[in-house]
Amino acid sequence: MQLLKLTEEQLRNISTNINIQRAENYVGKFFDCKIEDNILKGKIRGNHGVYEVELRIDTDPLTFKCQCETSKEMFCKHAAALGLTYIYTPWVFESNKKIEREEITSIEELQFYLRTTKLKTLLDDLRKCCLGVAQLSELTGISVQQISAIVKDDLNGKYHTLTDPLKLACLFLIEKGVNTKK
Ligand SMILES: [Zn+2]
Repeated sequence: MQLLKLTEEQLRNISTNINIQRAENYVGKFFDCKIEDNILKGKIRGNHGVYEVELRIDTDPLTFKCQCETSKEMFCKHAAALGLTYIYTPWVFESNKKIEREEITSIEELQFYLRTTKLKTLLDDLRKCCLGVAQLSELTGISVQQISAIVKDDLNGKYHTLTDPLKLACLFLIEKGVNTKK
């Protein structure tokens, strides 16, 4: 699988710091987000209606399209925000690309997998193959209540410092096929 990577450096290369700062306010406010042929697409409400924003991420420098006035002269905050949204919450972009557990061969692919796979999905898989939440709680020292709260946050796109470690733990246990019922 070809991973579409985008870094903040790439955005900073064509954008001013002020622009990136302004863009931060727009992160998460896009709708109808999707990836098509390495182009991120999303819509956002601006000062003059809804803007359709596009950011092509397989070119260097990045290329973009937006319907705002600023975009006629320079890389606008909407395009930067679309990029940041992809970096922070890639799973909001509808894509027919998805990486399977078996296909992970690099750190980047692992990160992509962690970002695009819900903790709930991993817990469900874990329950099917080996362990329940109670046992996971015992192994990780994270209470069942806290795990439930993290799962709920994860479903709502909210990130917790323990989200990825929990996902990694699930992944390991699923791969290992660790089973308490021998
Ligand atoms: Zn714009």
